[in-house]
Amino acid sequence: MSNFLDFGVAKKMKEMSEKQNKVTQLFEIKYPIIQGGMIWHSGWRLASAVSNSGGLGLIGAGSMYPDILRENIRKCKAATSKPFGVNVPMLYPNLEEIIQIVLEEGVKTIFTSAGNPKIYTESLKKEGLKVAHVVSSTKFAMKCEDAGVDAIVAEGFEAGGHNGRDETTTFCLIPNVKQHISKPLIAAGGIALGSQMKAAMILGADGVQIGSRFAATEEASSHENFKNKVISLNEGDTYLTLKELAPVRLVKNKFFHDLEKLYDQGRDAEVLRETLGRARAKRGMFEGDLEEGELEIGQVSALIHEILPVKKVFENLLKEYREVNSFDL
Ligand code: NDP
Repeated sequence: MSNFLDFGVAKKMKEMSEKQNKVTQLFEIKYPIIQGGMIWHSGWRLASAVSNSGGLGLIGAGSMYPDILRENIRKCKAATSKPFGVNVPMLYPNLEEIIQIVLEEGVKTIFTSAGNPKIYTESLKKEGLKVAHVVSSTKFAMKCEDAGVDAIVAEGFEAGGHNGRDETTTFCLIPNVKQHISKPLIAAGGIALGSQMKAAMILGADGVQIGSRFAATEEASSHENFKNKVISLNEGDTYLTLKELAPVRLVKNKFFHDLEKLYDQGRDAEVLRETLGRARAKRGMFEGDLEEGELEIGQVSALIHEILPVKKVFENLLKEYREVNSFDL
């Protein structure tokens, strides 16, 4: 009898480990969980830990000079035998050099963001890379599909850091994008719990991209001050601002309140740009200046209460995902 039971459990476990969908097949990963390639958090330690846990880790090129990126890719290759990728914001100053490094180092997957997917997608695909692009609207999701990307990340208003101008929430964005595209769809913005991941999948996503939850992990390269700030945040502690420059969701700290004063005085974009200055994000998230720095994080930070190792984040996500029970109509 017990042998039959053991056989049943083993069969079930085998079935579960073999479950595949469009996203897991495309990226050759176990779980459809992709880590956001967030600037100042996403070095080789975080990316390799996510990949080793069965998701897709991404190195964030946006905060790396070219030689630092190369070093991170090499260290990531040494730390994991699993697939990983690089996130490249297309606003990056040395974009061509960065793309060249990605190709030279044999990275198989690239997530591009903050730019036009038509510029690089075709040439990257010719080189054999899998290309995903991040958008915040259905209109741009359709442009991505036309450009021939392999997958689309649709990121809602809840997300931290650079964001869309239209303030479309993940809850509204995902079903709309789903109705207009057929490529694998990855939901982002406001996802830190297994229940939120499940909701995104029910809305039509084939996978999720998670940023804030992975920023508050032991492996993230950001400053401890920043991580501790993230786990102290409550609902309403972040805000989407600087739409005149590039919309960004950040923590309402002293720097944010200084910006608010400028808005109250009716100051124009040039004054905002001067006040922002250079390397504010580095100052806040990497150097840990919680007053004067730019602290980019999502609304979901209100649900993050502990700095955890990546492995534990995965365990929690999977457990919560499997436990979701909804009302039966
Ligand atoms: P700033 O112009 O304020 O500062 C540039 C920062 O990037 C500095 O801290 C600098 O480090 C670092 N950096 C890394 N590589 C380079 C390089 N090749 N040339 C110049 N600076 C470099 O920009 P932000 O901090 O607002 O943004 C930095 C980058 O991250 C941009 O490429 C931006 O598009 C991207 N970004 C992408 C996001 C996304 O895709 N979701 C979100 C936010 C930003 P140092 O101080 O050591 O010189």
